[in-house]
Amino acid sequence: MQFDPASKKLRIDAAELCHTVVNHASIDRRAAHIRPDDGKVDELLEHQYGTNYHPKQELCRTVSRGGLFYEIHATADGIARASGKTTVCVNRLFGDYTSKLDADRTAETVAFAALLAYMVAESEMLGTIAFRITFFHNSRDKSVIEKSFSRRELAEAVGRLLDLHRPFAALEAERLCVRIPNCKTLTFPYPEMRPQQRDFIVETLRAIGSGKKALVEAPTGTGKTAAALYPALRALGAGMIDKIFYFTSKNTTALAALDAARKMSDKTGIRAVHITAKERICPVKLRDPMKCTPEVCPRAKGHFGRVPDAIADLVGAARIYDADTIADIAGKHSVCPYELSLDLSEACDLIICDCNYLIDEAAYFRRYFEPGASDARYVFLFDEAHNLLDRAKACYGGELRRSEIRRFLDETRTAPKNAVCDALTDLDFYIDSMRELCADNLEEDAGGTVHGFTTVHSFDKQLYDLLVAFDRAASKYIRSPLCGNLPDSLHMLADKAKKYITAMELFDRAFVGTVTVHGEEVITKVICIDPSELLAKKTARGRATVFFSATLTPLDYYATLYGAPDAAKLKLDCPYDPANLCVCIMDKLSVRYQYRSQSAAAVADAIMQTVSRRDGNYMVYFPSYAYMTEVQTLFKYKYPHIRTVVQAKEMSEYARRGFLDAFRAGARTALVGFSVLGGIYSEGIDLVGDRLIGSVIVGVGLVQPSDENEILREYYDDKYEAGREYAYIYPGFNRVLQAAGRVIRTETDRGVIVFIDERYAEPTYKELMPAQYRTAKFVGDTQSLTAVLDRFWADK
Ligand code: SF4
Repeated sequence: MQFDPASKKLRIDAAELCHTVVNHASIDRRAAHIRPDDGKVDELLEHQYGTNYHPKQELCRTVSRGGLFYEIHATADGIARASGKTTVCVNRLFGDYTSKLDADRTAETVAFAALLAYMVAESEMLGTIAFRITFFHNSRDKSVIEKSFSRRELAEAVGRLLDLHRPFAALEAERLCVRIPNCKTLTFPYPEMRPQQRDFIVETLRAIGSGKKALVEAPTGTGKTAAALYPALRALGAGMIDKIFYFTSKNTTALAALDAARKMSDKTGIRAVHITAKERICPVKLRDPMKCTPEVCPRAKGHFGRVPDAIADLVGAARIYDADTIADIAGKHSVCPYELSLDLSEACDLIICDCNYLIDEAAYFRRYFEPGASDARYVFLFDEAHNLLDRAKACYGGELRRSEIRRFLDETRTAPKNAVCDALTDLDFYIDSMRELCADNLEEDAGGTVHGFTTVHSFDKQLYDLLVAFDRAASKYIRSPLCGNLPDSLHMLADKAKKYITAMELFDRAFVGTVTVHGEEVITKVICIDPSELLAKKTARGRATVFFSATLTPLDYYATLYGAPDAAKLKLDCPYDPANLCVCIMDKLSVRYQYRSQSAAAVADAIMQTVSRRDGNYMVYFPSYAYMTEVQTLFKYKYPHIRTVVQAKEMSEYARRGFLDAFRAGARTALVGFSVLGGIYSEGIDLVGDRLIGSVIVGVGLVQPSDENEILREYYDDKYEAGREYAYIYPGFNRVLQAAGRVIRTETDRGVIVFIDERYAEPTYKELMPAQYRTAKFVGDTQSLTAVLDRFWADK
């Protein structure tokens, strides 16, 4: 839909118009909408109408209604002219599960056919005209709706259709006539613009202006959310882009973006929505999202018919849409809040969502990012961009476990013979046979269990065919009325198979296959070792992309992995007074793996000395649970009077919160939180003020060696001669920087960071240290450490 304010003309596609206002369908995950095989359908109809059938007719008509001019465009599947009768043909092809689906979709298709018939009747000045809708159910069955109307009847029907669309047209008019002009003159919505924010804003504007990419490392406190959003809104005002996508996987970051948007909306009227994950916003709390069907979920039944009213309510009630606002209105109209938020996004200027909506092959927003979509005018803002690498690898990889298939087959042993179990039996047999690939390096451990691992560098056609056969059988079964007879775990297996198929289809030299054997278990994986090309393709859907985070060191590493080697790179200074932070490096203590037992007592003493200089809350980060437990046990034994909390491998939501709640403001004694680098407490937590006054970071975060990490090392050795850095050092050091970043959260925070390991004195790590830590004091022993800390705490 495009609106021209000067001529009051709205250009719209006929299918979009009908889909928006005459859609009574239910949400149904089983719906497999198969695209019409145009060639075959046309052949059939040509056979029926002979040379009088003219396929693929482009139509355009301008209709005036309520002071607006609708320029409607459409493609008719065909027009048949015979014996003075003109018939507009609309063809729809559906899968096997169709009877319910067709009934739901008939109203929309009838409205579409009537609109097309009206356009033809008007342009050819016909008194009467017919439309013929053919639903092809499969190669044999079809059903037909054929009706004739006078031109006048059709004109009245189209008038009613346009009246229904009026609120949506008004929204587009508001966007162009109010919101965009307001964005053009938007001033920075905070009293002060920090120099770092200014640099960030300039770099973002430059990237959008030139249609390029940028990476920005913006330390905590820069105010990066506003610094990214403000220039994007200015670019919106300048007509460079139509929508802003703000990608973040964290709820807290999404809420911060919504807050900034709220401030900017006060001045511009922009509309922003946060797309909350389906599992979180679903009121029905179905454990399995595959159960989004009209039979199971009352909100799914007839959902789309109630959406226009729900959207009208939402746009009237607010401009910033968080999960609660959407859930309230969705409840009032009994619609699915998740699907409602997706439709609402079309009325918004800013969409805040997870990056999966862009990068995931299975979950991307088809309405915005369909390959081949016309010149998309979006800007992509990736917050917490240091996480994108792991997210991309998770999106593009696949994994199959023989044990999961076996479990399903065992549970269905007594089920009647069926195609799903037959396909899974073949798959199980084949995956088991893959243990042969490890034959050369199988080893038996002391308990008699056999272990093996191997890599596969070629496409496994046989596995692919077996997966496709299972996927077909599972999809057909899930869409059939029989669904529910087999265990629910079928949905999980079907999802895993689909993901694996997608990964295999992407397979090239940036991927590797692996087979791992543990006794009876065989795990086969497709691993994306280098997502750069895929990410480059995905981000090419937008005009410009800005990746930003507090930790993107080194910038070149992230730029190459994100498919943006030529991106502009900006490292911002820390906005806080350096005097508020005391950084010490204990480089005479080695915590390398082979020295850990010897170093445990010294590390426990260093922690004690750190926390004894000032009462308050401290966090200590370890490279592994094993080492953390060893030091914590020793610490408790030596210093039983110091309060401690310890991160466990598995923690309930309640236990997680309890750990953080222990970090209270105004602590009068010392508290030490024992946790692991890269874990839930080393990033994404915000213990402001004196809730955290110090951190001890044990080790340099080096990633643990493993078969898979060795594959990465070899690949990046080949590609950049930097295998150790790419596989072990850089991703590990990012965890260190994230953990260190927990201490100073605002400009009034004061605190200490103690890094422990001899490797911090090596040139590689010295170079990686960000500017705000470069004034660190190298302290050889605990005596020197306490002297430095005492001076710091005595200073203010
Ligand atoms: S409300 Fe929940 S179960 Fe119903 S369609 Fe939405 S996500 Fe699915």
